Amino acid sequence: MEDLFGHRISYLRVSVTDRCNERCRYCMPEEEQAWFAKEETLSYDEMVRVVRIGATLGIKRIRVTGGEPLTRPGIAGFCAELTQIPGIESVGISTNGTLLAKVENGRTLAEQLAAAGVRTANVSLDSLDRDVYQRTTSRDLLPRVLSGIDAAIDAGFDSIRLNCVLMKNQTERELPALIDYAAKKNALLRFIELMPVSTQEVLSDDNFLAIATARQLVEQTTGPLIEEPDFKTNGPAVYHRIPATGQRIGFIGAMTNLHFCENCNKLRLTSDGKLRPCLGSYLEFDLRSVLRGGCSDAELAAFFQNVVARKPKEHDFRHNYQPNRRMIAIGG
Ligand code: SAM
Ligand code: SF4
Repeated sequence: MEDLFGHRISYLRVSVTDRCNERCRYCMPEEEQAWFAKEETLSYDEMVRVVRIGATLGIKRIRVTGGEPLTRPGIAGFCAELTQIPGIESVGISTNGTLLAKVENGRTLAEQLAAAGVRTANVSLDSLDRDVYQRTTSRDLLPRVLSGIDAAIDAGFDSIRLNCVLMKNQTERELPALIDYAAKKNALLRFIELMPVSTQEVLSDDNFLAIATARQLVEQTTGPLIEEPDFKTNGPAVYHRIPATGQRIGFIGAMTNLHFCENCNKLRLTSDGKLRPCLGSYLEFDLRSVLRGGCSDAELAAFFQNVVARKPKEHDFRHNYQPNRRMIAIGG
């Protein structure tokens, strides 16, 4: 599938829930939440059908996300179904890590996911300081996250990525410890610019830390970084290498990297069954009604292609974007 701007679509983010056991300041602050009702949420069978059709149209990679995907029962079984779909080459998961070490039926969730064929785990980690972690996520769960990362390492994922959202007056102090921790765990550390995908007041000049500034701060610890334009992980991260150690660090700058959307290959399926061509656009299309209206596979494929044809050239984040859905209800 190719859109009007030459984006080749091969990647689908599948959000399995809008619920989460944390309340990150930039994603889902502590206020009263209005969750999708059970009947509004797609069943796993419905999601598998959507992915199966997507795969016939060129979707090759899936990332399972949320909300916190590990809060939805049966997540490993769902991932196992996805990895069996012909044409799907890789399935990854994005998680806050708090439940990776949880044991169910004698195996950690990390082991169950790895056994299901999930190859990459992206784990959110904004701080290694327990107080800062608690302030950021409103939960005192850092020890569980660190056990979760260890469980993922033990489970043998091909790759573990640590994602840190850049917050001014906070992340600056965290950088050396995060770099050191990622090196020790052989994980790929990425810094993500704050995006306007939650309550608007989170994204302000007081909070925003640009990737260029983060890079300069990293260099104070590591010395000059070397850009590695040829190293890619299937997304918009730009990677740099620390020459002395070879460690790679990624920077994801939706706000300041003006080339951010050039190679976008993504669609998003929300847990309530909307197909979204772009995270930073109001466009979304109601796949659930079509699915539940008894559509044929051919109609579902045509729906996909119509959404791809409407994919915008780039996101709207730089134009005073006011989110119409919270990140938690889209799937990061
Ligand atoms: N709960 C999982 C987690 O935390 O990784 C998966 C869902 S979360 C919405 C996916 C990613 O979106 C996380 O890496 C999170 O840090 C990021 N994210 C959430 N809100 C964001 C924001 N306002 N700006 C930038 N990234 C954000
Ligand atoms: Fe939950 Fe992830 Fe959002 Fe934090 S970033 S509130 S862990 S969904």
